[in-house]
Amino acid sequence: VNEVLKYYFFVLCAVTLVACHTSRDWRVNPMELERDVSKTLQLFPSQTDYRILIVPDREAVASEHKRIYGRSTKAPAFYSSVENLIVIPMECEIRVLRHEVGHAVVAAYFTAPVPRWLHEKLAQKAEVSAPET
Ligand SMILES: [Zn+2]
Repeated sequence: VNEVLKYYFFVLCAVTLVACHTSRDWRVNPMELERDVSKTLQLFPSQTDYRILIVPDREAVASEHKRIYGRSTKAPAFYSSVENLIVIPMECEIRVLRHEVGHAVVAAYFTAPVPRWLHEKLAQKAEVSAPET
């Protein structure tokens, strides 16, 4: 019975960890987060001066997108290279913020324009912290 309980506890812990990882309720130091994204991507721009606009909901994200690009978006958040601005809703997964910071880091690092597909691949890679090596 004890073994079963231990196993159960382990499973419960794992579930809790996963739940925490994907929780919408997070506290973050933006400088630390950027550093971690840089480490994950192995891209260290000498300077990033993007700003983050936190809006109430996804509707507000869409309307900011419309303001900048003239058309709406279904994306949960976005990075605008035009304004060097991350627009993110108040409630979202932390990986969404990491994704958008990934875009901002890529934009700050490369002086030449980066193809859209590569921008997206790198931002996706930035979503999850790379394990220490
Ligand atoms: Zn993206």
